[in-house]
Amino acid sequence: MVSALVIAISLTSVSTSANGSALLSSESHPPNPTRSPVTYRLRLRRAHSVETLDVIYRRGNEYLASATRELNHFLRGYRTGEDGSYDVREFDLLYLLMNKLHRPNGVIEVLCGYRSPRTNAYIRAAKPARGAAENSLHIQSKAVDIRVAGVSTERLRNAAVSLHMGGVGYYPEARFVHVDVGPVRQWTLEAGRVEIVHAGGAMYGAKSSGRQSSSAADADAAAGQ
Ligand SMILES: [Zn+2]
Repeated sequence: MVSALVIAISLTSVSTSANGSALLSSESHPPNPTRSPVTYRLRLRRAHSVETLDVIYRRGNEYLASATRELNHFLRGYRTGEDGSYDVREFDLLYLLMNKLHRPNGVIEVLCGYRSPRTNAYIRAAKPARGAAENSLHIQSKAVDIRVAGVSTERLRNAAVSLHMGGVGYYPEARFVHVDVGPVRQWTLEAGRVEIVHAGGAMYGAKSSGRQSSSAADADAAAGQ
């Protein structure tokens, strides 16, 4: 309930109207019942193909079923071609992230969306350095790995962290950021090791820095990447 409330508040605070102006409820801009609802649009491109998607997935508080189907298909597993069934909060997260970056019309490059349990097991076995979690949120259709052209991986990570909407994984060498709508947490994967940054300074172990470094295999379950 708490996380749902936080999301609702953050959506309200950054929602923009079709012409890009902030929605205000001050006396100078009284609510106008005839005004059309805010539209939420995403522009996506798959990293390893020419496939793109430009879709309005939400109007006001209504998530559009046909657009959700299109997004689920677009974010399908890259090995199996299987569609996931995305948590719509992940779409809002991407939308808000692009607003945070002041690129509401920017294109998000998707490296990985839904991942079938079989694909995840393959990645864990064949590419342990990637640190895929056994219970990856990609399997649950709650995570996407992304880049944004013209935005550094670090800036993208910082913007995602500032949203406090879920997990953020930082992959500086592979130049992408994992964003999910699971529990709020962060980690970095560099030189084959996962460093978990615990929210609010809480941590595993006893290091006062609030950071813990361990092998990818040891840390993946905590990161849930
Ligand atoms: Zn990921």
